[in-house]
Amino acid sequence: MSTNTSGHKKVWDIIPQDKQEKYGQHYRKAPRSFVDVPALTNFMDEPKFPAQADPANVACRFKWDYPIVNLMSGHIRTCCRVPKQVITDHDIETYGADAIQNLPYEQDRRREKLLGITHVDCESCVRLEWNGSAPPRGGLDNFVNGWLIGENQGYPYTVTDVQKWYVDKIPTDPEQLPFNHPLLRADRPEMLEIILGNHCDLKCTYCSIHYSTQWQSELIKFGDIKKEDLKEHFPAAPEKLEKVFWEWFYDVGRHTSKVINILGGEPTYMPKFYDVMEKLTAAYKDLGKKDRHVELGILSNMNTKPLQMDRFLNLLPELTKYVFLRLQPSIEALDKKAEYIRYGLDWNRFEGNIRRILSEREKYGLTPDNFGMGFQMALNSFSISSLPEFVHWTNSLINEYDFEIGLMKNVVSFPRHHNPHVLTPDFGAYIEEARDYIEIFAEKNDRQIRGLMKKHTGLVAHGSWISYNRDLLDGLAKSVSSHERSQFDIDSRAHWYHFVEQMKTRRGADVLNHYPEMTDFYNLCKKYAGV
Ligand code: SF4
Repeated sequence: MSTNTSGHKKVWDIIPQDKQEKYGQHYRKAPRSFVDVPALTNFMDEPKFPAQADPANVACRFKWDYPIVNLMSGHIRTCCRVPKQVITDHDIETYGADAIQNLPYEQDRRREKLLGITHVDCESCVRLEWNGSAPPRGGLDNFVNGWLIGENQGYPYTVTDVQKWYVDKIPTDPEQLPFNHPLLRADRPEMLEIILGNHCDLKCTYCSIHYSTQWQSELIKFGDIKKEDLKEHFPAAPEKLEKVFWEWFYDVGRHTSKVINILGGEPTYMPKFYDVMEKLTAAYKDLGKKDRHVELGILSNMNTKPLQMDRFLNLLPELTKYVFLRLQPSIEALDKKAEYIRYGLDWNRFEGNIRRILSEREKYGLTPDNFGMGFQMALNSFSISSLPEFVHWTNSLINEYDFEIGLMKNVVSFPRHHNPHVLTPDFGAYIEEARDYIEIFAEKNDRQIRGLMKKHTGLVAHGSWISYNRDLLDGLAKSVSSHERSQFDIDSRAHWYHFVEQMKTRRGADVLNHYPEMTDFYNLCKKYAGV
């Protein structure tokens, strides 16, 4: 029986060698095909947890390959859609490095997946599936061909009849799947997210106390939350978590992770960020590889002050010898409009930082082969009217510095008054204008992205301009321009009014000073609010 670096059986040891050969012949060069997934409605009148379904209804590799670790609060989870679990001192003492991915709780959830049992942690996917929509989970074909066979090399060939293969190989009887079965372990992370905490210098309008200490202070100041309740949301991580995390990262994480994302709060605002960057550099340097198979994503508001900016840039020459750096400055509007949404932002400093990175990139060892940048745009009801000038500005930066910048997709749905669909149909014209502008430059601006995707398969999309229109703006322009609105969105206009009035009182930020073009919409929302 083969073992991994931490001495555990590998997941693929489930398939005996003789069977690998036998079935390998049988399925040799078999093309992939779609899998017939039985409808979840066959198994339950309404989404139920726990309930027996087919493994094809719940299969998802994210439970094995997508750990998220919060170094400040000690929360962990596998997949961003499931609830957080708290790691305690007792967990660290008892399970050591297995506290990161292999606590009994996580192994139990994997066991249910293999047996086809729903669990409330995966409620969002189960509900989508039950309603007939495509859930974000990986699916059975991806679990078998992509994960067990592709990544773990548990079988020589991809298989056509995934369900037959699954029934042949994977125990579907609980008796044959004891709680210490090697298939329940996860020792091969692919996407790792490291959360540094919620310290942030901004309080963006759609953000919350969970990601911003500035929001936290504001809500405490105005009595919306009590200081003493904060402990419940932000417990302190066990003292030994960091040590155990880095041990795990050296033994396991660095060997298989293809993508590592660093999240906050605002990373560059936190001293821990620089420490984590140094540790990551050391971990990959020690591996001696310079093939840049690891992509490191950093999401930052880039409101970074000069001293921290120097510190950040000085890390890059060494870091980018080992990783492909994807910088995602969060922004979707310009100047005063951006300063309203991203409250606390100094636009001049932000723009100066972006220009500095672009103009000094050679000095810091950044090339199109080890560095990519995409604006992380969170489209919302306040940003739509500046979308055309925003993409124009981005394109002018690309031309000025001869470096491509991607447009990364996101639309805010909650808080509800941020959803662009609360706007009146005339705002659709701004989206159409931006879409038409993007159309002209999309082919040219995707050259680096296309080249990178060819060279580094598995790289996270860096914000293709073509797909920004195709997958986002085409649909958004149509739906916002249409007169049809859900009652929920119409009712959200009253929330919009109350929100902007609250921003006026609490922050002294008058929405009409920042967006005079929203005067009619403001008056409409005021009516909806019954004022
Ligand atoms: S089934 Fe859905 S919620 Fe559950 S782990 Fe997969 S993606 Fe996450």
